[in-house]
Amino acid sequence: MKMLLNGEWVERAARMEVRDPQDDSLVDTVPQANAADMNAAIAAAVCGFERTRRLSVHERHAILTRAADLVAARREEFAYTIAREGIKTIREARKEASRCVDTLRISAEETRHLTGETIPFDQRQGSENRFGFYIREPIGVIGAIAPFNDPLNLVAHKIGPALASGNTIIVKPHSETPLSALRLAEAIQEAGAPAGMLQVITGRGSEVGDLLVSDPRVRMISFTGSRATGETIMRKIGLKKVGMELGSNAPVIVMADADLELAVSANVSGAFWAAGQNCLHVQRLLVHEAIYDAFVPRFVAGARAYRVGDKLDEATDMGPIINRAEALRIERTVNEAIAAGATVLCGGERHGNFYAPTVMTDVPDSCALAQEEIYGPVTIVSRIRDLEDAIQRANAVDYGLQAGIFTRDLQSAFQAMRELRVGGVMINDSTDYRIDAMPFGGVKGSGLGREGIRFAVHEMTEPKVVCFNL
Ligand code: NAP
Repeated sequence: MKMLLNGEWVERAARMEVRDPQDDSLVDTVPQANAADMNAAIAAAVCGFERTRRLSVHERHAILTRAADLVAARREEFAYTIAREGIKTIREARKEASRCVDTLRISAEETRHLTGETIPFDQRQGSENRFGFYIREPIGVIGAIAPFNDPLNLVAHKIGPALASGNTIIVKPHSETPLSALRLAEAIQEAGAPAGMLQVITGRGSEVGDLLVSDPRVRMISFTGSRATGETIMRKIGLKKVGMELGSNAPVIVMADADLELAVSANVSGAFWAAGQNCLHVQRLLVHEAIYDAFVPRFVAGARAYRVGDKLDEATDMGPIINRAEALRIERTVNEAIAAGATVLCGGERHGNFYAPTVMTDVPDSCALAQEEIYGPVTIVSRIRDLEDAIQRANAVDYGLQAGIFTRDLQSAFQAMRELRVGGVMINDSTDYRIDAMPFGGVKGSGLGREGIRFAVHEMTEPKVVCFNL
């Protein structure tokens, strides 16, 4: 495919290959943009902003609604692109494509809710004759850097709010999965977005990504990816706004009074969706000792029943790891835990780029598997004595995106809600629950700021006060 630069689909002699991680077959190639391309994109975005900031609500609403209709009409093509270039099975990819339609529709809706409020200036003596309000204005050029695991919907989570609020946006998709973002850009351009409002520049993060984050003309960086890259970007970013959606090692507590069947089925799905390459992946299951022996064999049976294989086969539950280096990293992390005394209850094997659904126990707290994000289909189970013990363990890491608790007891649910240090607490759901309209983001090493359309729109706009001296 070509990339979208200032309203034109352009080729470059230097190209990057997009390969299917399950068999290394060539899916397509995309231009490998250089510094001059990124510079040109930023200049076009600065220029385009003079037009986009003046687009009316009904014009922005119409662009986003038409884009949503186009993605809905092409849902199967989008699903195929996601499944081919990335790690998702076709069934997982269909869900992502339909969520992208939601994301664009919610963004269209948000154009109509971008309001300010009146300010009671007369609360201060001497201001009796003042009257005024604030409005929210777009901030300008937004740089968006995306990961590989949701190559369509997580890009839509940046484009939708940026367009809803009248900004311009430059997307740098992940080098392994640029095609979904380019197809989304086709739909948005077809829907009527003016030149420069949305550009998609394909190229290496260390090269063009680096330029995007450090250029002072870019007013905000909206990044979703690993903590390590997030920290690198933070060191270079200078004076601009930032949204950081990073990783986690999400905990789920299963109390003695939990609905066992629900806890098993929700957590099996939460553990192995997208082969665990998911920031909401259920990594740490904290199971009450009274229910442990009933829960764990059922959870392991669920993991064993998961069908790993060809992503395009409708019967497949789980696809591959994104590349060999990542599959080897997962294997190494599991082996380190085994050497430190951990027990494998199922899985623990790599076949090429595929890693089996894996359940482990007795993982020492000092292991990377217990402390860091595994970003693969590996879940560790531990016994807990009571809720205090579970909450203390859940919080004892430097991440906090979402947490879950299975219980029928209102007091336990409330205590978990208050005490878990995370961006979201799911009660009777695994951590892998999200709708696109809720505030989404983490605390501690899981990030800064919130996505979820209304919340991203807020981050991508600034209040301007207007005061009349009457
Ligand atoms: P990654 O390796 O950090 O890459 C993310 C993006 O950053 C890619 O587009 C990459 O470009 C770019 N990049 C790399 N180096 C850069 C630099 N120096 N300057 C600017 N950009 C640079 O992350 P990933 O492997 O794609 O994603 C996995 C991580 O994302 C996990 O930790 C996961 O939990 C997290 N995640 C978080 C959320 C959330 O909402 N909180 C959602 C999904 C995923 P290249 O591809 O060209 O290197």
